Amino acid sequence: MSKHDTVLIPGDGIGPEVTEAVCRVMQAAEAPIHWIEHYAGLAALEKEDDVLPAKTLNAIEQHGVALKGPCTTPIGDGFSSVNVQLRKKLNLYAAVRPVRSLAGVNTRFEDVDLIVLRENTEGLYSGVENQVTDDVVMSMKVATQTACRRIAHWAFRYATQRRREKITVFHKANIMKVTDGLFLRCASEVHQHEYPNIQYEEVIIDAGCMKLVQNPSQFDVLLLENLYGDVISDLCAGLVGGLGVVPGANIGDGQAIFEAVHGSAPDIAGKGIANPLALLMSGVMMLNYLFETREDETCAVAAQRIKTAYGKALAEGQSTRDLGGDLNTEQFAQAVIDRLEKD
Ligand code: NAD
Repeated sequence: MSKHDTVLIPGDGIGPEVTEAVCRVMQAAEAPIHWIEHYAGLAALEKEDDVLPAKTLNAIEQHGVALKGPCTTPIGDGFSSVNVQLRKKLNLYAAVRPVRSLAGVNTRFEDVDLIVLRENTEGLYSGVENQVTDDVVMSMKVATQTACRRIAHWAFRYATQRRREKITVFHKANIMKVTDGLFLRCASEVHQHEYPNIQYEEVIIDAGCMKLVQNPSQFDVLLLENLYGDVISDLCAGLVGGLGVVPGANIGDGQAIFEAVHGSAPDIAGKGIANPLALLMSGVMMLNYLFETREDETCAVAAQRIKTAYGKALAEGQSTRDLGGDLNTEQFAQAVIDRLEKD
């Protein structure tokens, strides 16, 4: 089978550094990928005077798959998040973030194996904010039955296919009775009518946070609306070593963008020390997605090869500074390449 045309968005901050490292590893692992580079965010603003150029969106629509580095969003004012815009415009409604303990990465817990599933298109990310009076501003939390049912179906189907046992919805329907109430009702109905095979529970999010940091193993798949999913993803990253080890996928009906949970990390950008592993793991998810959707076995082989190699590197104490090691971005990529199994 020929190579898969795949959009590569380097992003900004540490984005270009980690994407370059990931491309090197993918090439060394003989992943059948042909990169087509496009820009979004600050990099696009500099090159093309538009934070989200139409040609970037068109390319993802055409090729169906993209690997993306992080893009900075200005705080307080300035342009609205290009990451959110991409997810909304392409209707990538399901964010999937696997959070797993890794051998060689020492943390408080050793047996974390969680999937965070985040609704990606609505909630407080609707972007509807108003200045009502000089004194009053407001932000609108939007929930639709269509999107709540869609993510619930996606979550139960995913859990069933991956042989996961339980879905827990974190919510605040005691306070946001209408919006979070709708999210809960849709999840509960889909469970009752279509997926009694999966255990289902509802937990108020504040108590859920305490339970997560006390004993993450009591959870399996977490299903959350948009903002809760964003916050809980980073909390869960902290359970397994930090943002350097948590990958992600934004999936819609015809397209998918793979990106790490972390942002552009301006505090370490340009120093060459960022951990490329979260984006590399996102690349592995992308290869498995290509295998599943296009039945190309070579993608699965390359994915497994990369996974085994980074697992060996970590187990042998080869890691970047965020994980307690002393390698820089390039050296970690090389450590993975050196451990790739040959045919
Ligand atoms: P961040 O994830 O960029 O960084 C948080 C902390 O984690 C920092 O101390 C950083 O150095 C560290 N970190 C993150 N990734 C790392 C890596 N790969 N290796 C080593 N250390 C790493 O979060 P932030 O500082 O809150 O956000 C910075 C910018 O990124 C903001 O503009 C935000 O909007 C944006 N952001 C973008 C995305 C995305 O593109 N999907 C996601 C989250 C944040």
